[in-house]
Amino acid sequence: MNILENQDEYWMNFAFKEAEKAYEKKEIPVGAVVVLNNTIIGRGHNMRELLNDPTAHAEMIAITSAAETLKNWRLNECSLYVTLEPCPMCTGAILNARIPRVIFGAYDNEAGMCVSRDNLCDQNLLNHKAFVKGGVLELKCESILKSFFSEIRK
Ligand SMILES: [Zn+2]
Repeated sequence: MNILENQDEYWMNFAFKEAEKAYEKKEIPVGAVVVLNNTIIGRGHNMRELLNDPTAHAEMIAITSAAETLKNWRLNECSLYVTLEPCPMCTGAILNARIPRVIFGAYDNEAGMCVSRDNLCDQNLLNHKAFVKGGVLELKCESILKSFFSEIRK
């Protein structure tokens, strides 16, 4: 495994910690961090139930907090790490934020818009493209989702 790949796993672990926070709050466990120059400048976890907000996905919160940190909506030198493949809304936010690099953990066959259902990052929508890499710490990111859903079905 090369150094860059290790680095992606390193940052994904922080996104995973965010997913664990969501799990503790009985939210679907998805977490995200935005990284710039080897520093986390934004983080978030799913808070849809707590906030009664359909837009409160991990990526949306992490992107908003990163933009606040930078005092700039253009996150054009940042990488976004998220434990689950982004949905259409979050992929739209990624493109709007001009994020050039998206790394996700588990694939989402139902709503994933970076690989699984389509790749909106590759179509120059909003005049922007993003590099996408999926499957980083995939099993770990997937297993927390599986245990969450098996828990609520009990
Ligand atoms: Zn989303």
